[in-house]
Order: sequence, then structure tokens, then C-alpha cells
Amino acid sequence: MPHTPRLAAETWQHLAETSSDAIRAAVTGIIQRDKVELADRFYEQMLTDPAATQFLSTQAVEAHLKPGLQRWMEMLFCHRSVEELISALALQRHVGEVHARAQIPVQLVARGFRFLKQAINARLIATDLDREALVHAVLHVDHLTDIAFEEMSSAFILSAERSARTDEAYKMHEAGRNLALEREKQSVAVLEWEARVYRLLASGAPFHDMPTLQDSEFGLWLHHKAPLLFEDTRELPLIEACVERIDESLFPRLSCERDTAPDGDDNRELTRAVLVEIEELKYLLRNMFDHIMELEIGRDVLTHLFNRRFLPSILRREISLARKHECSFCVLMMDIDHFKRINDEHGHDAGDRVLQQIAGLIVGQLRAGDFVFRYGGEEFLAVLAEIDIPRAVSVAEKIRQRISDSDVFLAGGETIHVTMSIGLAGSDGHPDYQRLIDRADKALYAAKEAGRNRVATD
Ligand code: GH3
Ligand code: MG
Ligand code: MG
Repeated sequence: MPHTPRLAAETWQHLAETSSDAIRAAVTGIIQRDKVELADRFYEQMLTDPAATQFLSTQAVEAHLKPGLQRWMEMLFCHRSVEELISALALQRHVGEVHARAQIPVQLVARGFRFLKQAINARLIATDLDREALVHAVLHVDHLTDIAFEEMSSAFILSAERSARTDEAYKMHEAGRNLALEREKQSVAVLEWEARVYRLLASGAPFHDMPTLQDSEFGLWLHHKAPLLFEDTRELPLIEACVERIDESLFPRLSCERDTAPDGDDNRELTRAVLVEIEELKYLLRNMFDHIMELEIGRDVLTHLFNRRFLPSILRREISLARKHECSFCVLMMDIDHFKRINDEHGHDAGDRVLQQIAGLIVGQLRAGDFVFRYGGEEFLAVLAEIDIPRAVSVAEKIRQRISDSDVFLAGGETIHVTMSIGLAGSDGHPDYQRLIDRADKALYAAKEAGRNRVATD
């Protein structure tokens, strides 16, 4: 860590030029005299901030923090050699790493520094230093707290980045290797819990020994591990709500009814309600795993086409292949015409079925080496490899024709007709893939303007 000694040497030099012995003695004197009080006041002050209480308001923290802070002030402000300053700054780095591990927000630390600086400076003002010496003493304290903060922040950021990378690596590892296994394990855990409920219901035995779902194997997983893997999914909060309903509302009522009136109607209804919730839970759990497994491999859940995740890397790769082999490729931007009407007239589920069938029709017209993405709601993007514009136009035309000729099925056997507008742009050697997408998009807009159900080139 070459940074710390260098920073310490520069600071030592700077302070030697700007601070006299009298100034150092004044600062050192205040710290040695008031360190206990300063640490107490610091702690009190920080506890008035609700954001800080969650980190500070435990006995363990208080027991460590106050003596730690006193030592810290002594090391930083009362150092007598460059070596001691190096140790003080090394401590800063260590504190920064601890803060990162404890996830203490950096603004809280900045506030703490501000408080200490003001408290020390207020005491300096109360000394009999003359005006010039006082200004230098205040600057001396400022300089030391500033470099301490700088050193601490750099360690904090490094450490936080490292832990974010570890989180990410953990997530990827878990996702890639273990999702299928995890799905099986958690389905079995829910099934086991469900089976225990059945057994209790059938035997008429009391419920009080039965763990709640939250306390079961599945509950532990849901609370500790699932948020890591499924944090942004639609299903996770629904599953949590489901578990809460079972544990906190239905289950206690069921056990109470069971023990008082085992064959009552209320009891039967409650039993049904619990079982319905468990079914819902299993359904959500399956969907959550399915979705995340598809997303992990870059697929859109509804159409099974690629989602946009890998579009930049595929386009970058095609651009470099085209450059290397001196060939061209094309991008088709496709948008279903008046799709909103389909949703409005037949419902969102019907709209989803249409999207799935259109995706199939597009894929059916392309070669194995082409890529199709679901680009947005009812927009698709195809990358046609090694193709010139006239041939790409005829592929686009084939897609358009195929869609307009096909019956698209809704639930219950009803069929409708759907059309598609397509914008086409050919690669021109420009390295920025976004430009190609924008050109295809502009062509699509032109196709819409010209009356829809047509292909336009840029
Ligand atoms: P235009 O011919 O100009 O493209 O008209 P449009 O109605 O197709 O276009 P607009 O952008 O007005 O509407 C697109 C609709 O697509 C609105 C949105 O609700 C619907 N949509 C987006 N994503 C989905 C989806 O995943 N499923 C369903 N069913 N509808 C979706
Ligand atoms: Mg659209
Ligand atoms: Mg549309």
C-alpha cells in the first residue's frame, strides 16, 4: 500500500512548514485533556441522528467506539514522527474497511468528522493563541482530518467495490450452478411442510408442535437466500405475502378451530383456504425459478426469444466480424401494427398469446445463424448475419407476408389477423452499434408513416 506512506510524508512535510511547536502543543493539549469528553459528546451527537442509531445504538458498539475514538484522536492529532503518522493513516484505512463491511453510509462518517473538527476548533478558539497562531492551528486540525477522511474513503470505496464484486460473483455462481437443484430442494421443502399439515388434519392431532412456514426449512431459505437470487422478481414479494397470510392469519385460526371444533364448517373452510394458499405458493415459486433461469441465459420469458441483455455484445461482435470479413449484416426492427387494439379488444392475455405466435412466425423465416430479440413490448429486432441489403429486404418481406397471411389464435379457438411493420438498416462499418439500431428504428417509423404492414429501408 504505497499510497499511505507517501500521503503521510507529504502531510508531515506540509505540517512542518505551516505549524509551529506551539500550535502542535495547543492541539495535542486539547486532545489529551478532552479526549474522553470529545468521544462522549461525539457518541451523543451521532445518536440524535436516526440514520446513525441503527449502527451505533448497541452496547457492543458503544464499548468499542468510545475508547477507539479516543485512541484515534491521539494517533492522528498527537503524532510525533512521520512513522506515527503512517500508523495513524493505516488505522484510517482499517476503519474505512470496517465501515464498508458494516455498510455504514459515508455521509454519516463525514458528519462525524465535521462534528469533531468543530468541537476541537471551538476549544482552540478558547485558548490564548494569538490570531495568526489560531488560524494556523485551525488549519492544522483541518488538514489532518481531511487527509484522514481521504484515506478512509479510499479504503472504504475499494472495500465496498470488492464486496459488490463478491456479491455478484456469489450470485452468478449460485444462479448458474445451483438453480435447478435449489428449485427441487425448495419445492420438496414446501411439499414436506404441506404433508405435515395433511397428516395433522387427518389424524386430528393438535397443531401446537407444527412449525410455522417461516420457521420451516423453506422459511429460512426464503428469508436468507431468496432475496440474493430473486431480489427484483415480481414473485418474491407475493411469496412472502403468501407465507405471512398462512402463518399469521390462517394457520393460528386453523389450529385453534382444529382443537376446539374439529369437524365444524369453519374448520373445513379454513383448511381449504390454507391449501389454496399453499397451491398459490408452489405456483409462484415455480414461476420465480423459471423466470430467473430464463433471464440468466438471456431469454425473454414470454416469447423465449433473446432479451436485450446480450444485444450489445452480439452487435459488437457482428460489427467486428463484418469488418474482418469485409461483408455486411442487417438489422430489422419490427413492430406489430395496432397492437394496443388487440389488448383493448381481447385482453392482455390474448395480447401475450399473439406475441408468442408472432415470435414463432419470425423465427420460422430466419436462418440458424440469425438472432431474434424481443426488443420491447411488441417490438422485435433481428440481426441477419452475412447478408446484403437486397437479400435482407426479401427476408423482411417474407416475414411481413407470413405474418399477414397467418391466422393468429386466441383462447377458445377464435382467430385474428395481425400485421407487422419493419424497418431495415444495413451495416456501414460504423463501430457504434446504437447508430445501426437508430437507423433501423427510423426506417420502421417511415414504414408506419407510409401506412403500416410494409418494409422500409433507411
Ligand atoms: P402502432 O401500429 O403504431 O405500433 O400501434 P400500437 O398500438 O401497436 O403501438 P402502441 O405503442 O401504441 O401500443 C403498444 C401496446 O403494446 C401498448 C402496451 O400495453 C402493449 N404491450 C407492451 N408489452 C406487452 C406485453 O408484454 N403483453 C401485452 N399483452 N401487451 C403489451
Ligand atoms: Mg411499439
Ligand atoms: Mg405497435
